[in-house]
Amino acid sequence: MTSDSSTFSPTDTARSSSTTIPSGDRWDVIIIGGGAAGLSAALILARARRRVLVLDGGQPRNRFAPHMHGVLSRDGYSPLDLVNDGYREVRSANGVIRTARVVETRSSDGGFDVVTESGAVESAHRLIVATGARDVLPSIPGLSEQWGRGVVACPYCDGYEAKGRAVGVLLGSAAGVHKAHMILPYSPDVTVFTALSGPLPVDDRRLLEHRGVRLEDRAVSRVVVDADRLTGLALDDGTVVPLDVVFAEPAFAPLDDPLRQLGADRVDTPMGQCVEVDAFGRTSVAGVWAVGNAVNPGALVPIAMGAGATAALTVNGEIIAEEVATASAALAEVRRG
Ligand SMILES: Cc1cc2nc3c(=O)[nH]c(=O)nc-3n(C[C@H](O)[C@H](O)[C@H](O)COP(=O)(O)OP(=O)(O)OC[C@H]3O[C@@H](n4cnc5c(N)ncnc54)[C@H](O)[C@@H]3O)c2cc1C
Repeated sequence: MTSDSSTFSPTDTARSSSTTIPSGDRWDVIIIGGGAAGLSAALILARARRRVLVLDGGQPRNRFAPHMHGVLSRDGYSPLDLVNDGYREVRSANGVIRTARVVETRSSDGGFDVVTESGAVESAHRLIVATGARDVLPSIPGLSEQWGRGVVACPYCDGYEAKGRAVGVLLGSAAGVHKAHMILPYSPDVTVFTALSGPLPVDDRRLLEHRGVRLEDRAVSRVVVDADRLTGLALDDGTVVPLDVVFAEPAFAPLDDPLRQLGADRVDTPMGQCVEVDAFGRTSVAGVWAVGNAVNPGALVPIAMGAGATAALTVNGEIIAEEVATASAALAEVRRG
């Protein structure tokens, strides 16, 4: 089961009215994906007076959560409001944002062509890919309906709100046992469910039990809900384990097709293969950067924003170096007479 496909429609839908870029011209930078990472890059580049186009599918990964946490000055803010604010800020600096899903990227004449679902083709000198990721949820009845509310994944995002509450940890694999230890500072009332992971190694079980964690090996049949609020997990034998919140372990699937199509190198991470980037977001393909969850499973909102800003500074630095080199060559030509 995958997270749903509902699309975010920003309330600020007006296009930038002041773009002066004739159609057919190359953009300085196309940013694929307009979530925290892509919009952060777009804001810096638009404010640096670069011709920036953001093509965004409008489905930020955290759109299921009513509130986000751990984001300085925006703790408890709505993720969709953050994106909405970002759209407005980028547009006010003359960045252009279009709602469009990119289906193909290809190298073209020293730059890149980007094809959208409608068949439109846009060209740029450089690309920043900020397409995020998809969470593949365990297929337990009622679980996807609670995703982002009663069922969450990230202790840094939602652990604090679980303090003192009855917490379930639905392990996806035996390696996920770490998550149970992460939850303990928030609540002593923790039940680990091994229905999906299979039984844990004896040493892991002993350690968890020593720390006061209950272990439940029986099969989970469904999420129990009362008035749209998660109240427990039901087991196959009819037992209901009362809970306030469940931490699950969805599989992480980076939405990196635009990078794969360009042949970007990949690297193994503890959460599967991701496209490899350096500290500035550069991929192995010259002229292509990648930021946020598209390349980093651990990129929470502030990390994704920082990565977008870092890449933008590097991209702009390259553009300035090119402009200086071009001006120097022109000056040399003038001097030669
Ligand atoms: C339920 C949940 C709750 C979370 N809570 C928190 C929290 O409290 N605090 C926190 O810091 N983090 C939280 N996160 C993590 C947060 O979602 C990520 O940090 C953040 O979304 C990463 O930003 P991003 O820009 O990389 O990707 P996204 O925000 O996912 O943005 C990617 C954008 O690219 C678009 N896109 C994808 N493919 C294409 C394509 N082919 N063409 C065009 N556009 C495309 C998508 O539609 C989307 O709009 C949570 C995650 C989940 C799942």
